[in-house]
Amino acid sequence: MAIHSSNLGYPRIGEQREWKKALESFWNGQLEEANLMETMKTIQLSSIKKQMAKGIELIPIGDFSLYDHVLDTAFMFGYIPKRFGQESERRWDTYFAMARGTSSQPAMAMTKWFNTNYHYIVPELDGLQPRLMENFLLRDYQFIKDNLSIETKPVLLGPVTFLILAKLSTGVHWHKHLQLLVPVYIELLDELYRAGVRWVQVDEPILVQEIDEDIVAAVEYVYHSFYQKVPGVQLILQTYFESLSNYPEIVSLPVAGFGLDFVHDDGENLYNMKKYGFPKGKWLAAGMIDGRNVWKSTLVQKAALLEELSKYTEHLIIQPSSSLLYVPITVKHERRLAKGLVDSLAFADEKLDEVRLLAEYAQGKRSLSDLRHYDEQTGEALGLLRGQPIKKTIQPIEQTERPPYAKRRQAQQQHLKLPLLPTTTIGSFPQTREVRQARLKRKKQEWDEKQYQTFIRKQIAKWIEIQEKLELDVLVHGEFERTDMVEFFGEKLGGIACTTNGWVQSYGSRCVRPPIIFGDVVHLCPITVEESVYAQSLTEKPVKGMLTGPVTLYNWSFVRRDLPRSAVLNQLALAVRQEVLALEQAGIRIIQVDEPALREGLPLKRQKQPAYWQEAVYAFRLATSAVRLETQIHTHMCYSDFSEMIDIIDDLDPDVISIEAARSGGELLSLFEIHTYRKQIGLGVYDIHSPRIPSRDEILIQLERALRVLRPDQFWVNPDCGLKTRTEKEAIASLQAMVAAAKEMRNRL
Ligand code: GLN
Ligand code: ZN
Repeated sequence: MAIHSSNLGYPRIGEQREWKKALESFWNGQLEEANLMETMKTIQLSSIKKQMAKGIELIPIGDFSLYDHVLDTAFMFGYIPKRFGQESERRWDTYFAMARGTSSQPAMAMTKWFNTNYHYIVPELDGLQPRLMENFLLRDYQFIKDNLSIETKPVLLGPVTFLILAKLSTGVHWHKHLQLLVPVYIELLDELYRAGVRWVQVDEPILVQEIDEDIVAAVEYVYHSFYQKVPGVQLILQTYFESLSNYPEIVSLPVAGFGLDFVHDDGENLYNMKKYGFPKGKWLAAGMIDGRNVWKSTLVQKAALLEELSKYTEHLIIQPSSSLLYVPITVKHERRLAKGLVDSLAFADEKLDEVRLLAEYAQGKRSLSDLRHYDEQTGEALGLLRGQPIKKTIQPIEQTERPPYAKRRQAQQQHLKLPLLPTTTIGSFPQTREVRQARLKRKKQEWDEKQYQTFIRKQIAKWIEIQEKLELDVLVHGEFERTDMVEFFGEKLGGIACTTNGWVQSYGSRCVRPPIIFGDVVHLCPITVEESVYAQSLTEKPVKGMLTGPVTLYNWSFVRRDLPRSAVLNQLALAVRQEVLALEQAGIRIIQVDEPALREGLPLKRQKQPAYWQEAVYAFRLATSAVRLETQIHTHMCYSDFSEMIDIIDDLDPDVISIEAARSGGELLSLFEIHTYRKQIGLGVYDIHSPRIPSRDEILIQLERALRVLRPDQFWVNPDCGLKTRTEKEAIASLQAMVAAAKEMRNRL
C-alpha cells in the first residue's frame, strides 16, 4: 500500500495576521509595494516551512494569495475587465482595483464561496479572451524550490468550476469560454511540468452539486484534453464540502487521482465506492480530517475509515477534507480559553498533526493504541467542560406565528409615522482607529469598564447627532461596542467561547474570529439593551435595536457536533428571543435581527435543502415572533445568491428586510419581476465595501430601477450593509448622497 500525507490549502493570514496588516498598510499608502511583496514572501515561506515541519509530503502552493484565489485565477488568465484598463506597469494596482474598486470604477462582484463565509471575487468574462498572462503557480513553485529546496504541489482552480462561478452576460454560454480556456490551462500545466512539477491538484468543487449532463460532458472534455496534452502531470481532481456527484462518470476520468471529502459527505462517498468500486491504480486522496470545524478528530474512528478505504485502493493520500482556509492557524496562542476546551481543539496546525498521525498509523509506524491515547485525552477534556447536559429540551410549542402582515403594517405605521421611502442604515458605523484603540485600552486595562462605557456613549451620542443632521428616518446606535456581530453575542451568551487569536479570512483583508459553541446556549443577561436605550433617549426618531439572528450565530460559529443542528439552532433562537423581548420591554420600537448568513448554511445538495430551510425558518420565527403587533421586526441579509429565496424570506415573516444589492448587479431586482413580494424591503443602493463615494444621481438611478418592480410604499432606502469598514468621511458623504436621492424621489412620486 502506498501512502502519502497531503494538505489542500493553508490559511494565508499569518499567525499574527501579518498578511492583513501588510495589505492594509499598502492600501493606505504606508507601505511600498516592494515591502509588501517582501512581507508576503516571508509569510508564504513560513507557512510552507511549518507544513514541512509537520511532515506533510504534498505541500500546496497556489493557495497563497494577495487577496483571493479566484481573483488570482481570473487575473492569471488575463480576465481583466476593460474598465480597469489594460495590464499596466503597476500590475498590483490593477489587481487591487479589480478587488476593491477605485474612485472611478466599481469593484468586481463578490460572493460567498459555496457554503462557507469566505468570499471570492466573481470573474467577469464578457468581451475578454483568456491568455496566460503570468503563471503564478510556476512563480511560486520556483520560489519555494529556490528557497527551501523542496517539491510542492500546485493547486489550481479547475476550469469548469471557474467558468460556472464566473459572470457572463446572458446569451453567451460558458462552453464558448471553455474552448478558449482549455488550451491556456494546458499551457500552464505544460510549463509546470517542464519545470519539474509532478503533482497538481485541480479543484472542481462544483462537482459536489447536482450537475447535469452538460457539465459532465464539459468535465470529460477538459480532463481528456489535459490527459492528451500533458500526460506527465499527475492530476488530482479535488472535490470538497460534500460527496462527489455523478460518481461513476467522474471517477472514470483519465486523471491520476480523485480527492473526496469523507467528513462532510454524509457517508455518501464511501457508499458510492462500495457500490461502484474505485478505479484500479488511481490515487484516492481521502479528506479525513475536518477542514471546516475546530474539534480534534476521533482518530480511532478515522482508523476504521482507513480500513474501509483500503479495501478499494492501494494508493492512498491522507489529507484534510478541504483547504484549511476556513479554520484559524493554531491553538498555541489561545490564553483565554478554558483548559478543557483548548485540549479539545485542533486548528490548522493541529489538524496537520492529525493528518500525520493517521498517515504514520497507515504506514505502520504507529499503533492503534497511540490513536486511542490521543482520543482519550480529547474526550476527557470535553466531557469535563460540558458538565451536565441541560435536561430541558426545547419543545416546538413556543409561539412562532405573528398576526397577519396587513394588520401589523397598519399598527406599526400609526406608531412610527415614517415617510415614504424611509431612509436607514444597516447598523454599524465606522470602527475608527479611536474606537479600536478604546477597545485595546480596555483590554490592556488602561481603562476600566466605566471609562470604556463613557467612551462608547460619546460615540453613540455623536452619531445620533450626525444621523439627525443627515435627516435619516430610522436611526441606529452604531454598534461601537461590538468587535464583530457574532463574537459580541458569543461573549455574552452561556455555552459559547471566544478565542483571542482564532482569526479566519472572510473577504479580502477582513478576518473574523468565529466563536466556539461548546455547550448549551443560554441567555444570561440583557446584552444590547443599555446602548439601544441610551441612543433612543437622545432622539425622537425611532432607533432600531440590533441583534444577530440564530441562524447566523450558528453558521458563523464553530458548532458542537454532539447535538443535531436543530437543537443548537433552537437554543440560540430562544436566547435571541429573550433579548428581543428585553428590547421591546425597554421601549425599542424597531428591532433588526440580522441574518446575513442565512443562506450560507444551505446544503449544497438539493435534496438536503428543505430540511435546512425548515429548521432555519423555525429558528428565526422562534426568535422574532413574540413581540407586540406594533413592534416592527427587520432583518438584513447580504452577499448571497437570493434566487429561489423570496418565498423563504416571506416565510421568515419580517416586516422589513434589507438586502445587499449594489454589488450583485441588477439580478436581484429581476427576481421581483417574477415574484410578488408584499412586505417592506430595502435593496442596498450603494456598495459599502468600496471606499468610493456614490453620487446622488447614481443612487437615484438605483431607486428608479427598484421602483419599476417594487411599490413606493414598500421600499426602504439603505446602504448595502453596515458601515464599520468605512471612514467617517466616506460614511457621511455617502449617506448624504443617499438621503438626497431619497428626498428627490419622494418629490417625484
Ligand atoms: N448590523 C450589522 C452591521 O451593520 C450587519 C452586518 C452584516 O450584515 N454582515 O454591521
Ligand atoms: Zn450585511
